[in-house]
Amino acid sequence: MSVIRYICNETTRFHTFVANRVALIREATDVEQWNYIDSKSNPADMASRGIKMKRLINSSIWWNGPIKTGNQDQEDLKIGIDDPEVKCNVNSTMTETCDVIDKLFLHFSDWMNLKRSVAWILAVKEELARRVKIKKQTVTDFQEKNKKKKDEQSQKMKIKTRVAKELSTKMIDEAEESIVQYVQSQHYSAEICDLQQKRNSRQIKHYSSLRKLDPILSRGILRVGGRIDKAELSYDSKHPIILPKNSPITEVIVRDGHKRVGHLGKNTMLSELRQKFWIVGAGNVIKSVVSKCITCRKYQGQTLGQKMGDLPQRRLSTDEPPFTNTGMDFFGPILVKRGRVCVKRYGVVFTCLARKWRTASTQIHV
Ligand SMILES: [Zn+2]
Repeated sequence: MSVIRYICNETTRFHTFVANRVALIREATDVEQWNYIDSKSNPADMASRGIKMKRLINSSIWWNGPIKTGNQDQEDLKIGIDDPEVKCNVNSTMTETCDVIDKLFLHFSDWMNLKRSVAWILAVKEELARRVKIKKQTVTDFQEKNKKKKDEQSQKMKIKTRVAKELSTKMIDEAEESIVQYVQSQHYSAEICDLQQKRNSRQIKHYSSLRKLDPILSRGILRVGGRIDKAELSYDSKHPIILPKNSPITEVIVRDGHKRVGHLGKNTMLSELRQKFWIVGAGNVIKSVVSKCITCRKYQGQTLGQKMGDLPQRRLSTDEPPFTNTGMDFFGPILVKRGRVCVKRYGVVFTCLARKWRTASTQIHV
């Protein structure tokens, strides 16, 4: 009855084993072809359980098949909820708390792609503002209408050429600045506020986690202060941009640095990153990035070794004198000079099988 129920059912989902078989049965046969018979009317049992010849000859079930009982009652074909083969339906709901900016940041796993994407968004925004400005100007200037028309046409041409342009490095740098400013505002708003109020004194609250870095605010970006301002280094190296450890952007930047140094270790990555960024708690971020890196996993993976077989008894007979069991290795010919002629010589290496003394276990005879 269980099998009939499974075959007739069209709505319930079953576990893989039953689902595959039911699908096969339904594909090859019609559901109406299947009927239930009780155990007593099953002719197959006679073959599998055995029956005396006399009974077999007279058995109408064996020769004619079981008597059809008609269609099954629909109530009987219902599958119980507690049937172990029925798949449970799990309803899950997900609440998303990310805002649109975080979603955008999480979407990208490559730093350059993210910067390019933000650069395009900023470029479109700038372009829209510019076009609105041009439109306003043309509406207000009635007197120089004709002249403006020409101007508008030329502006339109300019717009077309501008939109068609590629992203410049300046635009990408501006996008990077915007991203960094956003991340810092999310994590270090108190420090930025303090520095904006006391711009010259470089003072932030004593309990701030950035106090040891002596931070400065340069063009709205929080950077490491330090004492090497007079060094002949790039501004980014002298005052790296401070980034928090628990931000998706930090992870993307670390991953980018990791790829740039060719999947090298922590110290190389740190020195590469500190050319521009100072990540608070960088060690842990690097560790996490490296642990997720598939290429590094492949590099560090253990190679398969062959399991060595048992040593033969003669290699283990340590209570016997040296060279009782000996290995021999022939080599040659070697050309040896004797007087004016060269003669062929052959060598043999005797190795004691039981001992491995550096001096006495091997004897060479030429
Ligand atoms: Zn790697």
